[in-house]
Amino acid sequence: MSTNEELFARAQRVIPGGVNSPVRAFRAVGGVPRFVQRAQGPYFWDAEGRRYIDYIGSWGPMILGHGHPAVLAAVQEAAVQGFSFGAPTEREIELAEAILAHLPSMDMVRLVSSGTEAAMSAIRLARGATGRKKIIKFEGCYHGHADALLVKAGSGLATFGNPTSAGVPPEVVQDTLVLAYNDLAGLEQAFAEHGAALACLMIEPIAGNMNFVRASVPFVRRCRELCTQHGALFVFDEVMTGFRVALGGAQSVYAREIPGFVPDITVLGKVIGGGMPLAAFGGRRAVMEQLAPLGPVYQAGTLSGNPVATACGLATLKEIGKPGFYEALARRTQALVAGLRQVAAEEGVPFSGDSEGGMFGFFLLDALPQNYHTVMTTDGARFNTLFHGLLERGVYIAPALYEAGFVSAAHSDEDIAQTVDAARAVFRLLG
Ligand code: PLP
Repeated sequence: MSTNEELFARAQRVIPGGVNSPVRAFRAVGGVPRFVQRAQGPYFWDAEGRRYIDYIGSWGPMILGHGHPAVLAAVQEAAVQGFSFGAPTEREIELAEAILAHLPSMDMVRLVSSGTEAAMSAIRLARGATGRKKIIKFEGCYHGHADALLVKAGSGLATFGNPTSAGVPPEVVQDTLVLAYNDLAGLEQAFAEHGAALACLMIEPIAGNMNFVRASVPFVRRCRELCTQHGALFVFDEVMTGFRVALGGAQSVYAREIPGFVPDITVLGKVIGGGMPLAAFGGRRAVMEQLAPLGPVYQAGTLSGNPVATACGLATLKEIGKPGFYEALARRTQALVAGLRQVAAEEGVPFSGDSEGGMFGFFLLDALPQNYHTVMTTDGARFNTLFHGLLERGVYIAPALYEAGFVSAAHSDEDIAQTVDAARAVFRLLG
């Protein structure tokens, strides 16, 4: 049996940083990543046989927990029938129908293989459909690693951004305007200056890539009004929130407060694939019919609508569509955040936390942040102590303070209680 440390050393010789996606490398928190051997329900076991309560769930997809029997059976059946055909299958229609049934903003959907691909394609579609070039994104929102979206805010209000990655030429992001999240004045200014040139505004409505920050209702309402007024498309990136915060996604949460609210394009991923590489984007018929082979906007994929991934997603959606699913999930997630809040208060640790459905976040700050800048005022060293303290006690949260957490239907009250107990012990060290 190899230890995590041995595996990490071996991995680093053949894979950059030893990982296939940077945050897995524990760079922010230090230490050795846990190499997962197997997982079941709310737990995974590392290479050394240690068990962890998993609050990452593959960064969101595993809403049923690991190894759900109905999902496993569907995947096994599909795999026997064939891995990939490059020709259409009935299950793709079923999955499209299952997605559309819960998202009234969408008449049509196209399946792809990753959230990055879906967000990138949504931008191309918005540009193709409007004949315009400029896009708005918000600081702290992540939409995958396509060139046009790897941008950080320039200095000052409403400036065009700078690439956040080497290899992205500045001219590729010169049409990407980066604004502060929840900043109404910046939003108004951007539309006043660039409204006629804007193809779309893309937002993570409940941002999970700066921990957990909600776009305020007035902010979302104003985004909607300004997009309509100026002929720009409003793109909701629900890769993380879709089928995670509610069956109807974050858009259904905002529609409770803003009657009739719908975005123009929705980007989906994670839960709709149930842990397999599957994502999607969709919207109104007139917009979606701009896509090839009907329209002039090209987009394609060898593995798009992959039959095994589609079966996995479909089986997952069937389970989460059962009555009471989200109520139970939300109750358990709220219990986790409330438990953490209570022990933090008892141990004198500044704490704020929030959740929606099965997605949560918490901060070692007195109040919930409204934007990326405030999120990043968190003391990194204290977060690292918390992370490693929980890890040692068998609780696995994201190894970075700017990531959201996820509870699955498999987490029991006992798991939540154990987590809160572990947190109390660590908060005691921090208090
Ligand atoms: N959009 C959001 C909101 C995400 O959280 C992510 C990934 O975490 C992406 C897009 C990119 O998805 P993927 O990692 O599947 O490419």
